[in-house]
Amino acid sequence: MFKSGFVTIMGKPNVGKSTLLNGIIGEKIAAISKKPQTTRNKISGIYNSDHSQIVFLDTPGVHSPNTKLGEYMMEAVKRSLEDIDILLYMIDHDFVIPKDDENLIIPFFKKISNDVKIFVVVNKTDKIPIQKFARIKEYFEKYDRIDQVIGISAIEKRGIDNLLKLIEDNLEEGVRYYPEDIYTDISERDIVCEIIREKILRYMDAEIPHGTSVSILQYSEREDKPIIDIEAEIICEKASHKGMIIGKKGRKLKGIGKAAREEIERSLGVKINLQIWVKIKPKWRDNSYELKMRGYDIKNI
Ligand code: GDP
Ligand code: MG
Repeated sequence: MFKSGFVTIMGKPNVGKSTLLNGIIGEKIAAISKKPQTTRNKISGIYNSDHSQIVFLDTPGVHSPNTKLGEYMMEAVKRSLEDIDILLYMIDHDFVIPKDDENLIIPFFKKISNDVKIFVVVNKTDKIPIQKFARIKEYFEKYDRIDQVIGISAIEKRGIDNLLKLIEDNLEEGVRYYPEDIYTDISERDIVCEIIREKILRYMDAEIPHGTSVSILQYSEREDKPIIDIEAEIICEKASHKGMIIGKKGRKLKGIGKAAREEIERSLGVKINLQIWVKIKPKWRDNSYELKMRGYDIKNI
């Protein structure tokens, strides 16, 4: 049975959220996101295995209820957590009971939809005496709303496999939402797609761009040089549209590609090697799987 779902990692700054994500995805995840977020939930990493796909989401703005949070913030965060399957609430070796809870974390958890499982992840166990870990575990486990308390050391990559297994065990059967080669911060890819789309709009007659969508097939930074290799795909609905996008002797597509590359380079501040393919997918706009894959997901509204 293939399982998939959405997981948010939340916790105070510095507890090790990014380190854990890097450990799970197995790649350095670009921490850069120069553009303001447009969608409510930003994808921060996607874990793929033969039998599962776990999409990790960032909670915009607030990373901890364990600060001075007004009702409004609580509500905003709570809503952004409604569509997810699992919340990982991360704390680290500095956590002090009960001072660092201060009746904030537990009430916050209670506001989150019961459909969302909550795991408390105690990170930096390499720095926690075993007795202290036991006390923290006991403290959180007495609350029914908390499904699991698990210790890890993100930096030493200890407990990560257990955590992944626990997540998988708690997900339901589902589809692979994103292609397997997408594993990292999607924001820069989104920027690339947006720019290509904008160039299509500029170079094409009006009725075609609405039937087109752009997605990234390949996005990789070279290790030895500051160059990003990008393969993008434009899909359109008809063969006649494909012909028009490509143009005589490929001239139109060349123009789109050149203009897009120049703007992407300016926008990301790095050299780009861009290849664009055009493909026909009849009626893709009526296909909910295609829509979801392209980010037109009800979850992002
Ligand atoms: P974030 O702000 O929650 O994303 O935290 P980071 O992932 O940036 O980590 C903050 C700091 O904690 C970094 O210096 C990490 O190297 C360190 N760190 C992360 N995980 C561990 C761990 O398991 N053990 C120890 N000792 N340090 C860790
Ligand atoms: Mg971080």
